[in-house]
Amino acid sequence: MDITHILDGLNDRQRDAVTAPIGNLLVVAGAGSGKTRVLVHRIAWLVEAEGASPGGILAVTFTNKAAAEMRGRVERLLEGPARAMWVGTFHGIAHRLLRMHWADAGLPQNFQILDADDQLRLVKRVMRALDLDEQKWPARQAVWFINHHKDEGRRAKDLPRNDADIYHVTHLKVYEAYEELCAQGGLVDFAELLLRSHELWLERPDILDHYQRRFKHLLVDEFQDTNSIQYAWLRVLAGTSADVWAVGDDDQSIYGWRGAKIENILSFRKDFADVQTVRLEQNYRSTSTILRAANALIDNNAERLGKNLWTDAGDGDPILVYSGYNDLDEARFIADRTQSWIQRGGSADDVAVLYRSNAQSRVIEEAFLRLDIPYRIYGGLRFFERAEVRNALAYMRLISQRHADVAFERVVNTPPRGIGAKTVEAIRNIARANGVSMWQAAKEGIARGLFTGRAAAAIGAFLKLIDDMAGNVKDCALHEIAECCIETSGLMAYHSRERGEQGIARRENLEELITACRQFGGELVLPLTPTGEEAGQASELEEFLDKAALDAGEYQSGGTAAQMMTLHSAKGLEFPLVFMAGMEEGLFPNRQTEREPGRLEEERRLAYVGITRAMQQLYFTYAETRRLHGSQSHNWPSRFLQEVPEDCLQEVRMGGDVSRQFRTLHNGADDEADQDEAGVRIGQFVTHATFGEGVVLQAEGHGDRTRVQVNFSRAGAKWLMLAYANLKTVGD
Ligand code: ATP
Ligand code: MG
Repeated sequence: MDITHILDGLNDRQRDAVTAPIGNLLVVAGAGSGKTRVLVHRIAWLVEAEGASPGGILAVTFTNKAAAEMRGRVERLLEGPARAMWVGTFHGIAHRLLRMHWADAGLPQNFQILDADDQLRLVKRVMRALDLDEQKWPARQAVWFINHHKDEGRRAKDLPRNDADIYHVTHLKVYEAYEELCAQGGLVDFAELLLRSHELWLERPDILDHYQRRFKHLLVDEFQDTNSIQYAWLRVLAGTSADVWAVGDDDQSIYGWRGAKIENILSFRKDFADVQTVRLEQNYRSTSTILRAANALIDNNAERLGKNLWTDAGDGDPILVYSGYNDLDEARFIADRTQSWIQRGGSADDVAVLYRSNAQSRVIEEAFLRLDIPYRIYGGLRFFERAEVRNALAYMRLISQRHADVAFERVVNTPPRGIGAKTVEAIRNIARANGVSMWQAAKEGIARGLFTGRAAAAIGAFLKLIDDMAGNVKDCALHEIAECCIETSGLMAYHSRERGEQGIARRENLEELITACRQFGGELVLPLTPTGEEAGQASELEEFLDKAALDAGEYQSGGTAAQMMTLHSAKGLEFPLVFMAGMEEGLFPNRQTEREPGRLEEERRLAYVGITRAMQQLYFTYAETRRLHGSQSHNWPSRFLQEVPEDCLQEVRMGGDVSRQFRTLHNGADDEADQDEAGVRIGQFVTHATFGEGVVLQAEGHGDRTRVQVNFSRAGAKWLMLAYANLKTVGD
C-alpha cells in the first residue's frame, strides 16, 4: 500500500504523530506548526493504514468553513469521497444529533434554532412579562447569565434558589421563564444544542451506546477553546472505547470570556487514559521576523505551558508600523498598501485586515470602496443576520411551520399592513392564555370576534397570504420558494423603496439570498431512530433555515477579495499579507479587560493569534485620534507594540511623499519655492465657512489644482479645491 502521499510533506515529529499507534493523543504546539495539517493526515492515515471506516471518524473544527476545508483535504488525500465521516463544529454536530433524535431529546420534530439575535429578543420579552425595568436589568446581562450556566451544563433547576444575591435571584427567574418559553415554542438556542445533546447521552444509554460503537476515532482541532459542556460531551462520547486526538495551543486560547477553558488541556491528560503528548516546534507559516515578534510578545504572559517555536524561513521584511492621524487616514493607508500589493501582481485574496472590534470595519470598507478593491467581511454582521434577509427567512419559516412564533412576530406587520403593536399584543395574550401558537391565536381571535373590524381584516389577509404562498410553492425548488416569499410578501418592493445605497444594498442582499438557495446542496440529514433506521427526512427548506441560523458569518459569494475580520474569527487561517488595525490602548487591549483579572493575558493571546496569521508581511497600524461609537478619542499606541522587539519593526513615514505633503494655504496658489510647511497638513483641523469643522484627510494635485479631502464632522467627507476652499486652520 502506497502511503507516500500521506507522509510526504511532514517532518519527523509530525510523522510520528500521524503514525502513532491507536490511542489518546494530545498535540500542544504553537501557531503554524502544522497541527491542523497533522490532524488531516491522521484521518487519512486511519482510513488507509489502519483500515478505519470513514463512518467511524468524527472530527470537530472551529468553524463550518474549516470543516468544509478539512473534508476537502481528507478527500484529496484519500482520492475519494468520505461522506460517512462526520466533520463539523460542536454546534453543528450537536444539532445534527438533535435533528435525528428529536423525540428522545424531548423536542418537537420541527424545533427551531434561535440565533443570538432571536435569543436576545426572547429574553427581552420574558423580562417585560416579569415587569423588570430594562434600564436596571439589561437583557444582555440576562442572556449572558443564561448562556454562562448552560455552557457549564447547569439548567435553572440546578442553580441555588435561596441566594441572597438579588442579581442571581432575578436572573434565575428570567432563566426559568425563558426555559419555559423555549420549551413551549420548541426553541433551541446555541448553548442548548450542546447541553441537550449532552443530556441525551446521559439519559439514553442505548443511544449513547449506538454512537460509541460507531465512532471509534474522535479528533478535535483548536482544543484550547472548548468549554466545559463541549469537553463533557466529548468525554462521554469517547467512553473507554474511542481514541481521542486533541490538537491545540494554549497561547491561542481566546474564548475564555465565552466559557472556554484552557484547563481542559491539562485535564485531558488526567481524564483520558495513557495520553501520548506530542510537541511540534517548527513553524512553516511565517518569516522569522514575524515569528520572533510573536514569541517575544507572548513571553509576557505568565500563565503558559511554555514552548519553543522556530523556523528556518529567512528574516523576510520587517514588520511595518503606521501611525495614522486618525482612523480615516489609517484606513486609507491600508487600502493604499493593499492596492500596491495587487498592482505588484499579488491577489486580493492574499490580504487580510484584522481588527479588535467590528465597529472598526466601516471606515476601512469605505477606503476599499473608494479604491475599488474587492473585499469581503468575514464573520462580521453575518449575511443571514441582515434585517431584510431575516425578514425573508421568517416568511420561509412560516411557510414551513405556521406556529413559528418568532417568525410570525417578525413579519406579521413587515412590510406594514396595518397590524399595530396593540393587535400583536392581543394575539400574544390569546396565545399565552390558551397555550397555542400565535398563528392559531390569530385565527381564533378572528373567529371569536376579538379584534376590531379593521385589525381582523388585516390579520385575515396576512394569514391568507401565508397559506396562499405555501400552496403556490408546494413542489417548487428552494430558490423558487425564496423568490416567491420575497416577491409575494411585498418585501422586495418594501426594502428597495429605501433611499440611496441602503435600498440598493437591501435589494442585492435579497437577490443574494435567492442565489444562496440555488447553490444550497443540503447535506441530507436523515432523522434516525435510536436503532438506526430511517424515520423520515427533514425538508430542504428546513435544512436551509437551520443552516442559516448556524452560519457564523461564513457565507460569502464568489470572486477574489481581501478579507476583513475580527481577530477572533481569524483563528486557524493564514494570509501572505496581514494588517492589524487599531493597535491602540483602550481598543486593543480592550478597555473592558482592565477590570477583569486574566483578561489582559487573553488579549495578548489574541494579539499572538493575529501576528501569527501573517506569512510574508505584517503591518501594525494605529490612529492618533479615532471616532468610534460616536465619540472622538485620543489613544496611545498599544502596549503590544512595545512588547515586540524593536529590531523587528520599522516605522512607515510619509515624509517626502508628494501626494501627502502640500503647500501652505496662506501663500495662495502654487509657489515652487515655498518650503514653509506650517500650513494645512494632513490630519489637521480646519474650518470651512459652510461645512464647519473638519479634519484634512488627503491631498492631490499641484498648484491651482490642489484638491484636499476634508472630513467635516457634520457634513462628512468632501473633496475641495484648495485654492477656492478658503479653509482656516485651527489651533496653529
Ligand atoms: P494554527 O495554530 O494557526 O492553527 P497550525 O499549527 O494548525 O496553525 P497549519 O495550519 O496546519 O498549522 O500549518 C501552517 C502552515 O504550514 C500551512 O500552510 C501548512 O500547509 C504548512 N505546513 C505544515 N507542516 C508542513 C511541513 N512539514 N512542510 C511544509 N509545510 C508545512
Ligand atoms: Mg490550525
